[in-house]
Amino acid sequence: MATVSDVPDEPGQPPALTAFSLAEISQESKIKEQIITPFDVSGGVDEHGKAVAIDYDKLIDHFGSQRIDKSMLERFERLTGKPPHRLLRRGLVFSHRDLNLILDKYEKGIPFFLYTGRGPSSGSMHVGHSVPFEFTKYLQDAFNVPLIIMLTDDEKFLHSPKLSLKDCRKFALENALDIIAIGFDPAKTFIFADTDFIYGGHGAAFGQNILEIGKKTTNNQIKGTFGFNDTNNILEFAFPATQSATSFATSFPFIFGSNPKTVSKIPCLIPCAIDQDPYFRQCRDNAPRLGLVKPALIHTVFLPSLRGSESKMSASDTESSIYLSDTDNQIKKKVGKAFSGGQDTRELQEQIGGRTAVDVPFQYLTFFLESDKELGSLRERYEKGLMQSGEMKAAATKELQTYVAAFRERRKAVTPEIREEFMRPRQLIFRSMPSEKEQ
Ligand code: ATP
Repeated sequence: MATVSDVPDEPGQPPALTAFSLAEISQESKIKEQIITPFDVSGGVDEHGKAVAIDYDKLIDHFGSQRIDKSMLERFERLTGKPPHRLLRRGLVFSHRDLNLILDKYEKGIPFFLYTGRGPSSGSMHVGHSVPFEFTKYLQDAFNVPLIIMLTDDEKFLHSPKLSLKDCRKFALENALDIIAIGFDPAKTFIFADTDFIYGGHGAAFGQNILEIGKKTTNNQIKGTFGFNDTNNILEFAFPATQSATSFATSFPFIFGSNPKTVSKIPCLIPCAIDQDPYFRQCRDNAPRLGLVKPALIHTVFLPSLRGSESKMSASDTESSIYLSDTDNQIKKKVGKAFSGGQDTRELQEQIGGRTAVDVPFQYLTFFLESDKELGSLRERYEKGLMQSGEMKAAATKELQTYVAAFRERRKAVTPEIREEFMRPRQLIFRSMPSEKEQ
């Protein structure tokens, strides 16, 4: 098992999300800047009409987050006694906000909780979704903390012209089964779907936090952060208050208790892909005005689309995705058609080698293959022309088939009764806050 000492001085660079020509972009199109929002992910277009790689360094500067460096990984290893996850070692978890504060508090015995989520836009999740969820499981195991998972069926309904409320509610329940199959601890995990949970009974405190946050948020802020305009529907403007409310322990008195003095100080860490950051920038601006702790974030890069476009794998775009419900044969066919960074002929490949930075099958291996040694050897052999693109595709197919087969087995064991337990508002195992004197 690799440890921090095996990691180069800076953790691996996030992969380029490819640079191949988008034929459908017209010649007269000018340079387009990259766009990363919860609704759009695109690396932009250069002066020749070519889609370009997402520049994650630029994104860190633009969003004002911090890069995860080697000293942060060392701290992780020291505090948890566990080697850093492969996504951390390879720079695929690359950026954060206030993670250092969470670790400072953890060191002093102050507990925190994790929050992540999924917008249920399809019945099955894809392997890209499993990236932040797998990483969240690693965090839950390493820090032994409670986790809240929000299924934003309301947001998917409001935002998608094609999906009915009934579809989104059904997808939420189906996605819950996929999420449970990632392997979360039932004693420390609460999952809820917005349309079931908000505004009554156990959701009352949550609903009140939405109102408090909503009152502090103007339409101008939402327009500036999400690029909304006057054609967006009124509830889309309100939704950021809902996504924010989960960041505060005060929304969940049945988990954390109801003493406002201590509960309002319980910090939250949000693992997510970087497209979700705009929601939490807003949330962090508002938190101190409500006397609450700003949530911390830890960001992953995107698993690229199969098409090798400049964009991420997305459930709303079936051609871009390998689903967790795909068969071995479907996976083989899809990876076979994935965008390759190999050369056009066998001879050229042998002469100049393949481009791992844009080779989608290789990119998938960087996310899913555990062995750093094997990955390094594949990279070297491909770049030196000692391997053809078909062999890289075969290696990625095998790894993804193994990953999905293991998932399939765990998923079979998740019954509706187990889901009901995960979704029942209840106390979770949680180390209580030390008294002010002890802090
Ligand atoms: P989709 O477009 O596929 O419906 P989405 O982008 O709306 O999905 P959500 O379901 O809202 O995604 O996201 C759940 C979590 O998975 C978020 O943290 C999101 O950033 C992350 N995520 C979604 N797609 C990818 C991907 N291709 N790679 C890594 N993380 C992803």
